Amino acid sequence: MNLIDTHCHLTFEPLDDDVPAVVERSRQAGVGGWITVGTNLADSRKAVELVSQYDGMYAAVGIHPHDAKDAIEDALDELRRLAQRPKVVAVGETGLDFHYNFSKRPDQKRVFAAHLAMARELGLPVIIHCRNALDETIEVLDRHGRGLKRVVFHCFSGTARQAESLLTKGYHLSFTGVVTFKNAAQTREAAKVVPLDRLMVETDCPYMSPEPVRGRKPNEPALMVHTARFLAELKGVDPDEFAEATTQTAATFFSLPSPSAR
Ligand SMILES: [Zn+2]
Ligand SMILES: [Zn+2]
Repeated sequence: MNLIDTHCHLTFEPLDDDVPAVVERSRQAGVGGWITVGTNLADSRKAVELVSQYDGMYAAVGIHPHDAKDAIEDALDELRRLAQRPKVVAVGETGLDFHYNFSKRPDQKRVFAAHLAMARELGLPVIIHCRNALDETIEVLDRHGRGLKRVVFHCFSGTARQAESLLTKGYHLSFTGVVTFKNAAQTREAAKVVPLDRLMVETDCPYMSPEPVRGRKPNEPALMVHTARFLAELKGVDPDEFAEATTQTAATFFSLPSPSAR
């Protein structure tokens, strides 16, 4: 298997303490590519710096909806500069989180819209974080997302119907270890309707280790093989075929160089 962890936080504790070992275990397990995703300005800077040190590792830069309250004009300007650094392959994560509401909703919407404008201008895909805010997220995308290159809803855990409507709009969906959880029947039904050329796999580590290692902390990219195997079986596809197809989906989505050049 040769998988890409399309959404991880290798800059987060405790993974950031020993990235070389995390990367080595990941490669051994068959996960040889990583998109490490920034969640605020300082973290995005850290991500850009980190990816310069590893083959196959790329960064996304963004300000998480949780941190939207701190995103003043200057922050967005610096984010734009960061987005143009080498090996930055996406804008995000950005979006709306009305579950925690750590930032006020108008702030979240303003910063989300600014990310979309930036992504369009720079020709970069967007990684969307959406929690308890699907209708509003689609509203902002409808209004500000025209002409965007590509969009993925990360850690998708909605219904099959919602998945279908996002697919109709041309968006990609990405699944974490949540899909392996006992109580995630709805997410499994959703995963079934997503074709492999629109489906990506991620850990969102250090959070949420997949079954059968759910209790393991922290989660790390090596453990993504469990999610990939689970999804392959769920969709009735050979695991190697599944890996090849979804890795190709990720490589196309993020415009990654071909494996020999990675
Ligand atoms: Zn997220
Ligand atoms: Zn994340």
